[in-house]
Amino acid sequence: MELQVVEQVAVLGEWIAEGGVVVLSGAGLSTDSGIPDYRGPSGSARRSTPMTYQTFTRDPIARRRYWARSHLGWRTIGEAHPNDGHRAVAALQQQGVVGGIVTQNVDGLHQAAGARDVVELHGNLTRIACLACGELTSRVALSDRLDAANPAFAGVAIEFNADGDAELADDHLDGFTTVDCRSCGGMLKPDVVYFGETVPPERVARSFELVENARTLLVLGSSLTVMSGRRFVLRAAKLGIRVAIVNRGVTRGEPYAGLFIDAPLGIVLPHLVALPAA
Ligand SMILES: [Zn+2]
Repeated sequence: MELQVVEQVAVLGEWIAEGGVVVLSGAGLSTDSGIPDYRGPSGSARRSTPMTYQTFTRDPIARRRYWARSHLGWRTIGEAHPNDGHRAVAALQQQGVVGGIVTQNVDGLHQAAGARDVVELHGNLTRIACLACGELTSRVALSDRLDAANPAFAGVAIEFNADGDAELADDHLDGFTTVDCRSCGGMLKPDVVYFGETVPPERVARSFELVENARTLLVLGSSLTVMSGRRFVLRAAKLGIRVAIVNRGVTRGEPYAGLFIDAPLGIVLPHLVALPAA
């Protein structure tokens, strides 16, 4: 690490040792797990516009194409494993210095690393929700059903995005068969918040509660481009709560951060776990 980064990590270590840390994580935390951050420096700009709730529910052709792409994207995200950054956050939680975790990610990798009570602002791709009866089922089971319904599906993903959507030529999408809820025949949708949808208010309230009671808000791997994450930084700053950001590249939270470390999370975070408690 560069000297400046070493010094910054030492300061962050002191802050963390004081406890009361609430983590807000974004896509940058999962890039080392092979999930691209389409907004960050390591990710390419996405080729298609993201699926909106309105299009998904009202346009059968768009929905069919979405499921074909998402089915392929899931093959990669479903095989992703937590990285050193996820493991460090889980270890800090087990040590009692991290008191809450709020994530913008939908990959479930915090929990896979052993973290508990994670507030998933945008949901979780590993769950499927029925829009009619509300039943939640597993993505693995749905993936098996889609494989069975599409034995000849030979689509090849060109590129996939952090939300599990994949880029696929339209001629590969024709003929893809979708499946419905086994309990009621209703429309199925990944249990994630789409563009055009609002984050469920109880998740937002829980996140604000965690932030307002924190000593330090630690932002990990988020450019804070969207307000759904940035509002927590704004609230912390307003209340005089310390904000630390570890992110590769610029973020929109920088003006509010007492500490901004522009370095890879996979290098910075393990150092913090190794630090002795105060
Ligand atoms: Zn149902």
